[in-house]
Amino acid sequence: MDTIGVEADMVPNSVDPAELVAALPPGVVLTAPDAVEKYRNDWSKARGAGTPVAVVRAHQAGHVCEAVRWAARHGVPVVPRGAGSGLSGGSSAVDGGIVVSLERMGAIEIDTASQVAVVEPGAFTSEVKAAAAAHGLWYPPDPSSYEICSIGGNVATNAGGLCCVKYGVTSDYVLGLDVVLADGTLITLGGKRIKDVAGLSLVKLFVGSEGTLGIVTRALLRLVPAQLPRATMVATFSDVDTAARAVVAIRGRLRPSMLELMDNASINAVEDFRPMALDRAAGALLVTQSDAPAAARSIEVDAMREECERAGATEVFQTDDPDEGDMFVEARRLAFPAIEARGSLLLEDVGVPVPLLPDLLARVAEVAEELGVEIPVVAHAGDGNTHPIIVYDPGVAEAEERAYAAFDRIMACAIALGGTITGEHGVGRTKKAALPDQLGPDVMAVTRRIKDALDPQGILNPGAVM
Ligand SMILES: Cc1cc2nc3c(=O)[nH]c(=O)nc-3n(C[C@H](O)[C@H](O)[C@H](O)COP(=O)(O)OP(=O)(O)OC[C@H]3O[C@@H](n4cnc5c(N)ncnc54)[C@H](O)[C@@H]3O)c2cc1C
Repeated sequence: MDTIGVEADMVPNSVDPAELVAALPPGVVLTAPDAVEKYRNDWSKARGAGTPVAVVRAHQAGHVCEAVRWAARHGVPVVPRGAGSGLSGGSSAVDGGIVVSLERMGAIEIDTASQVAVVEPGAFTSEVKAAAAAHGLWYPPDPSSYEICSIGGNVATNAGGLCCVKYGVTSDYVLGLDVVLADGTLITLGGKRIKDVAGLSLVKLFVGSEGTLGIVTRALLRLVPAQLPRATMVATFSDVDTAARAVVAIRGRLRPSMLELMDNASINAVEDFRPMALDRAAGALLVTQSDAPAAARSIEVDAMREECERAGATEVFQTDDPDEGDMFVEARRLAFPAIEARGSLLLEDVGVPVPLLPDLLARVAEVAEELGVEIPVVAHAGDGNTHPIIVYDPGVAEAEERAYAAFDRIMACAIALGGTITGEHGVGRTKKAALPDQLGPDVMAVTRRIKDALDPQGILNPGAVM
């Protein structure tokens, strides 16, 4: 199969990596086919991942600069890679290219006076959270994958997660970046400054650029005081529509610290995968939390309960016990691996303005019905960001084609509702074809001009995003 989105004339005819191997310390560059194999795919196992000629496992920014300079001299594609947990084929390797893996660069320093974490890109999100917590501080962004994804990948995809509804996404916490550009130059952007409007907003430009504009080698992340204790409320509904209407009502009135949705199929997938006493008969489940201070917490939970009951919840349960609450959050986090255990997946990440959440979920159900495909849904519902998960049998070509048709149709539905094809996972390679439909020709042209200005040879993550 062709490498997705990489034009044939962009891929050099097998450049010999010997010069690159010699330029870096022993062990940094891998070229053995079995060693390289594990760097070809991300979690999505997107169609058409290529085979790189080498993998550079950088130990320091200087190694990244050296590798990119070599690639620029020879016109070799460079795919930056964090922990490979991406869900859009963003770190899929390119035939004849190199992968620059940041997994060995994991240092973390906490500056308690400035409340800033200085982090190398390979550190796992969970490690940054733990390092901050050791000083009574908190790094809020919390993708469900926080134990298996890296800060570099989070910055490159502008990762979201479960507490975005109140605390925002990765870009809200990035104060500064070190970035290796496409010619191998290392630049430093921003600093430990809460406010800084000097020059163009280049930090924001690199956040979410999915490895197409530069390689992040260090991030300065804003920390906040530790989160206050949370109360959890879980409500079941007879169907997804009623649950989605409850979400709209809650968000019209409150800003909870978590507001997640699971439908019947995802509840049952989790129960099959790891029994957690979820109600298998529920049409949908909302998991909500409040971390409001003192008495405000129970006032907020009571208000959420009121909205769920008014919308027609069949059962409502609330607890101040953190372990009990975490059990429900854990069930929500398990949804992807649980559903994955049932077959191959195509993972959507579509989002709409919150009031249109019921419309989006209704359209997803129509697509499932019309194309005869199974599409369980989990959602960061409080953000209007949903993950319809298309399950198919990869052994049946016709089923696979229907799954891909459903994937495209759902993105088209989101765009028609004024939404987005991706709320947090990034465009990568799997959603690239739909990006012009969302952005339109003028915005695509500006995007292309920025890419061409920063990466004139087009060597950085070719085939991803645009
Ligand atoms: C079970 C599961 C649950 C998930 N839940 C969430 C969720 O709740 N929210 C969410 O946002 N995501 C979620 N994800 C997706 C994924 O974990 C995130 O996209 C994460 O940010 C990717 O990090 P990574 O280190 O694995 O990056 P990779 O997959 O290695 O790379 C992702 C992209 O970033 C680029 N990149 C990586 N490192 C760098 C760098 N240092 N410099 C420049 N570019 C770089 C790559 O080229 C690629 O385009 C989930 C994934 C799984 C498997």
